[in-house]
Amino acid sequence: MKNSNGDSLPRLIDEPILMLSALQHYAFCPRQFALIHVEQVWAENRFTAEGNILHERVDSGVAEQRKGTRYERGVLLKSERYKLTGKMDLLEIEQTDPPKYFPVEYKRGKPKVEDWDRIQVCAQALCIEEMRNTQITEGAIWYWEVRKREAVQINDELRASTIFAIENAHTILATGKTPPPTNKVKRCRACSLRDLCEPDTFRKDHSARYINEIFKE
Ligand code: SF4
Repeated sequence: MKNSNGDSLPRLIDEPILMLSALQHYAFCPRQFALIHVEQVWAENRFTAEGNILHERVDSGVAEQRKGTRYERGVLLKSERYKLTGKMDLLEIEQTDPPKYFPVEYKRGKPKVEDWDRIQVCAQALCIEEMRNTQITEGAIWYWEVRKREAVQINDELRASTIFAIENAHTILATGKTPPPTNKVKRCRACSLRDLCEPDTFRKDHSARYINEIFKE
């Protein structure tokens, strides 16, 4: 199995490991996640291209120390427990005893009501907690379009949503089954996979099949 970059997905025994960056695809739309990570289709639009450029810039930096904080960029992460792997943009480490870890993700857009981006930060926190034997209560997302840093509370609710997304994404990878289109129709307008997914055709076919079934009985 390969990811959207064409790289083979790493495996633990027989179970594929989930890329951290794939979680936002699942949170946005489980069908989008399956199209990219199971069916291997990928369509770039202006938003995804700008996002990639932003991440390349952020990841190319080196670690630095300013006052009491160390800034590590492009940090590799993994979790044996949740079968996750990936790279994070920035890890701020307050040099206290014990050290305080603070994950920061860079996004090209603006803050959202939905948890798509926050779930990715929380998944990063789960990896850091496991790797560095610590507890994380807060992270942040820096939004390029509005030049704003938004705090992310790593609370029980966000942890539960994140673990739910991780488990469901793993189920899709394991079964290889692509879910139907999201019922959040507005999301399809911003989706780079709309032409490949054909959600309207799927919904029309599904409605026609449903009506046929009713009249059959
Ligand atoms: S077009 Fe809509 S249903 Fe299809 S992958 Fe995108 S968001 Fe999901």
